[in-house]
Amino acid sequence: MKENDVVNWMYEKTQALLNETGTMGDMEKVLNKVSKEICRKALEHLTQEKAIKQKLICHKCKCSMNVKEHNRQREVITSFGKINFVRSYGFCVNCDEHSFPADAALGLQEHAPASPRIQEISALTTLRIPAGQAETDLYRLTGIKLCASTLHREARRQGERALVLRDNDELATQTPEGVAKLSANATVPEKEFTLIIEIDAWNIRERDNWGQTKILQKSGEGTKRWHWVYTGTVFRLDQRCKTISGRPVISERGYVATRKGLEGFQRQLYAEALQRGMLKARNVLILADGAVWIWNIATDRFKEAKQRVDLYHVKEHLWDLAAELHGKGTEEAREWVRPFLQWLKSRKDGALDIIESLQEIDPNVYTANQQKILAREINYLDTHKNRMDYKNGKAMGEPIGSGAIESTCAQYQRRFKLTGQFWSLAGDEAFLALATIHRNKRWNQLFSHDLN
Ligand SMILES: [Zn+2]
Repeated sequence: MKENDVVNWMYEKTQALLNETGTMGDMEKVLNKVSKEICRKALEHLTQEKAIKQKLICHKCKCSMNVKEHNRQREVITSFGKINFVRSYGFCVNCDEHSFPADAALGLQEHAPASPRIQEISALTTLRIPAGQAETDLYRLTGIKLCASTLHREARRQGERALVLRDNDELATQTPEGVAKLSANATVPEKEFTLIIEIDAWNIRERDNWGQTKILQKSGEGTKRWHWVYTGTVFRLDQRCKTISGRPVISERGYVATRKGLEGFQRQLYAEALQRGMLKARNVLILADGAVWIWNIATDRFKEAKQRVDLYHVKEHLWDLAAELHGKGTEEAREWVRPFLQWLKSRKDGALDIIESLQEIDPNVYTANQQKILAREINYLDTHKNRMDYKNGKAMGEPIGSGAIESTCAQYQRRFKLTGQFWSLAGDEAFLALATIHRNKRWNQLFSHDLN
């Protein structure tokens, strides 16, 4: 049969189903339906053929397995509808495990109904919008009928797979061979470059004790509902540019987001920095606000890196101090703070000059509380004084604010704070891993058919 015959056959079939008033939209819809059934049958054929070809080899030890049964049936939901095929099932004596080699070769997961395309569609749509909304949109856009619970379950399953990959990267950071391997993944320019790492955290809402709220409240314990999601972003300085309209953008960068604690975050951030070329960078710069945990990580994990505290956070501290000493929103406060803000940006040792000035203030002109706050702010500036080289940073074209990580957190939050549907540590972490592997443009590690 020639291609033309297929076209004619589809044309006739479609035309018979159309009525006079139909628009092109109707033609598209009917054609989609007609071709879908053809595709479904062809896919069923191809799937069966591939399944038959698979030898009964154990996926772990690569030894021959004992045949347990031939012709075991399996039904799969595909983008063209449901298909059925049969395959063989074996037992590995070495590994003491049953398996279906054909399933693995086809990219199917155990006890899961979805084909790789459906796995991917579920994962991607659920990352964008809650499964309940995705159900209708998906049907409308593609004609694929998947109920919300299937979408959610499949997306979660893909998240679990993303977690396994992430855990492997984390593990790799523990050995020199692993570090070398991660580092080899980096594509870096030939010329010298600076790597920027920005760090922050945001809150996620979870139900730790589902169904026990009232009991726990009565006992006075309450439920811990809010958890930190530690977040990082990694990019090269030369990947930071501006759009024609002048908006700053980063052409490519890496992401890390986890609510599993600082230890995990530290390893994940290290793994990501390695994969973005950290070992080949001439300079590494860490930018963040003043949070203590961040600078502990910086000192622990990124010893060689230069540290910089976000300029806007420092300014905020100075403005708050001005308000304390001279009244919020007053001309006096503005006058008082103005030179300090100027020094921060224009003097080589602006921070030291500010500290010195503040130390010279006669404390007796202020109340006891004001003195306490003054001392606290001097201490803040003193703690971070070596992280405030804004003049030099600006001259080198480096960022002096941590805007990139703030927008990263906002992007994650836009999805993760949407609904109450993610409410367990396991569920959240799986979806965070899924969102992150997608952002990192490593989607094809999950879906080898991805066009990338
Ligand atoms: Zn085996």
